[in-house]
Amino acid sequence: MTLSERDLEQQEPVTAPAPAPSAACTSCSGGTLAAETVKAAFWEGERLVVVDGIPALVCRTCGEKYYEDETAMRLDLMRGAGFAPEKAVQSMTVPVFRFDASAGGKAGG
Ligand SMILES: [Zn+2]
Repeated sequence: MTLSERDLEQQEPVTAPAPAPSAACTSCSGGTLAAETVKAAFWEGERLVVVDGIPALVCRTCGEKYYEDETAMRLDLMRGAGFAPEKAVQSMTVPVFRFDASAGGKAGG
């Protein structure tokens, strides 16, 4: 008779505000969270920069992202460093739209 690994696995105490990977989403209360790497956009003055490969917990239901404290801290450090252009791994073109107050809410018709 053997115990499964899951039985032997000890739950680490959660000190960070981000839920544990096994926890449910607090935004839609119930969605399953999955550990993924995501990209996020930040405004640096008039400059828009994108950070790729950020570890996050993403809700499968509503798409809410949760960052660990350490991840948020590292992002703050990167922002504090001013996102030096020479450190960018790639550049992308971002389409810019002007808000259209007359646009309808529904497509077609
Ligand atoms: Zn959710």
